[in-house]
Amino acid sequence: MAGMTLAPYACDPALSRGRRYPEAPAPTRSDFQRDRDRIVHSTAFRRLVYKTQVFLNHEGDLFRTRLTHSLEVAQLGRSIARTLRLNEDLVEAIALAHDLGHTPFGHAGQDALNACLKNFNPQSAGFEHNLQSLRVVDWLEERYPAYNGLNLTFETREGILKHCSRRNARHMEAREPGGVASRFIEQTSAGLPCRQPGLEAQLANLADEIAYNAHDIDDGVRSGLLSLAQLEDVALFSQYRRETLLQYPGLRGRRLLFEVIRRMLSAQVYDVIGATRLALQEAAPTSVPAVRQLPPLVCFSREMALQSASLKHFLLQNLYRHPQVVQTTQAAQQVVRDLFKAYMGDPAQMPQAHIDRFDGIDTPRATGAKPERVVADYIAGMTDRFAAREHERLMGHAVFSEL
Ligand code: MG
Repeated sequence: MAGMTLAPYACDPALSRGRRYPEAPAPTRSDFQRDRDRIVHSTAFRRLVYKTQVFLNHEGDLFRTRLTHSLEVAQLGRSIARTLRLNEDLVEAIALAHDLGHTPFGHAGQDALNACLKNFNPQSAGFEHNLQSLRVVDWLEERYPAYNGLNLTFETREGILKHCSRRNARHMEAREPGGVASRFIEQTSAGLPCRQPGLEAQLANLADEIAYNAHDIDDGVRSGLLSLAQLEDVALFSQYRRETLLQYPGLRGRRLLFEVIRRMLSAQVYDVIGATRLALQEAAPTSVPAVRQLPPLVCFSREMALQSASLKHFLLQNLYRHPQVVQTTQAAQQVVRDLFKAYMGDPAQMPQAHIDRFDGIDTPRATGAKPERVVADYIAGMTDRFAAREHERLMGHAVFSEL
């Protein structure tokens, strides 16, 4: 970021609230660059390449995976951060880590795992993917001699924990007073946390939304589950389709689709930049602690927020609930349920390293937990194809034929 000064409301690595286990600074990298590098080198990051975003891995080689999705979020986030003089490295670190806790098979896997934990023990904290992403970087990665996890800075961890139930926040607060979960304890009457994370975290969150809204249209159309005619109902899409066809009347097929999506992405990026600048001017925060006390400042304009919401609604109705997606979803949920039952019934089916974590105590080097949590961690870490193969090994029949 040579030549560019950070805004006073940006997260400055020199003012970081630090790491859980103090470390000497690196000679050439800031603490947030170092976080980003640790994430890129982690095992969980490499697994993202074989984890579903919407379409299962074997359904096509060109669809987004969690990895390519995370890279797109990082690109959008960095680009906006640079313009707003926010910390690009921190946005990138959060973006690359935001989905590390996702189970195999996307949201279907997460819902099934949550239900398994709750059925096993109604008092269970259940499964929340944001919390699991934090668990991955705080506990589950085993790369360093002195501690478990990646020992990331407070600011990156704060960005990773986008949502958290109040109940789980209280539990985490007991272990880490004033830590990243503490803002979820006090909530407004609408159930929103009273305090915000830094602007880089707010930005990574919005970049996530911009990225999946755009790439799910792309994947949806290329898979044949969505048609361009259906998308005429979506204002954000149809207006840029009209605009594109005015300029290139003969444009058809993929080039038309890509150009419309490109214009949609640009419009959303410039909208966020404009609306956030206005919000920043109005609130005039002079520090990160000030940002944390204010309402969210990284935002769409009112108009764009409505358009984005209607696009999301369209994708929910027409893509995420498409019969073909739902059918795969049900099979995926069965795989997760069967795996949970199998490992709980016979933990020896898991690798020894996981069994060793039963009932240990949380110390820097141990991640001990109740058996059901260890099993959930093991399943959550699996890639789609590994989960399917394990299922076949344990159940004796294949649910997905081509993984
Ligand atoms: Mg995401």
